[in-house]
Amino acid sequence: MTPYTTTDKTISYMNRQYGKLFRRVTSFDELNVIDVSHEIYDEVYDLAKQEAARLSEAVYKKNRTDDTAVADSEFNAAVFVLALALAYNPTTKYIFENEIERKRSRFAESVISSDTPTEEVALAKRLIAATNAQFMDDVTFDTLIKALKDSGVERVRWVTAKDDRRCKVCKSMDGRIYPIDKVPAKPHIRCRCYVERVGADDRRKMSKV
Ligand SMILES: [Zn+2]
Repeated sequence: MTPYTTTDKTISYMNRQYGKLFRRVTSFDELNVIDVSHEIYDEVYDLAKQEAARLSEAVYKKNRTDDTAVADSEFNAAVFVLALALAYNPTTKYIFENEIERKRSRFAESVISSDTPTEEVALAKRLIAATNAQFMDDVTFDTLIKALKDSGVERVRWVTAKDDRRCKVCKSMDGRIYPIDKVPAKPHIRCRCYVERVGADDRRKMSKV
């Protein structure tokens, strides 16, 4: 079990919704494609905000470990997620909301101009699914850090994902300890690394940051 277990369920659910959304492209004339592109990508964004808030809420509850009565009321997942959607992300190097609009615009252009518009629709669907999966990973990671911080955790240990996407940088970070305010950005897209609390009995030295 990693903090991304719920994330994977959310991503699968959303991918099924994209299947339904992109079936709305039924004709490839310019006006229709532009209209339907706004319809689809507006829903993509609304769905992302809704599901990300649900995911963030779940990750927060799971990782908020102290039992203070204010724990639930002081964390607003919808606000937290919206701030993330509007912030520049140093790993992806874009703002999620802007990237959705860029993807919409490319979708419309490619479907209108292509000789094989059906393939362009399928490609656009895969690309927005990947962008969304990345956002859900980021929501998970940032919510995890927020929950630990709100629980009074001061130091965390980097845990490198044991998957095939793991890069050299990720590998070298495994086990390193950071102050909770100085956790580095993820080194690459679809990085599934995470952090865990450092216990009082931990004798490792703090990494230089
Ligand atoms: Zn990683």
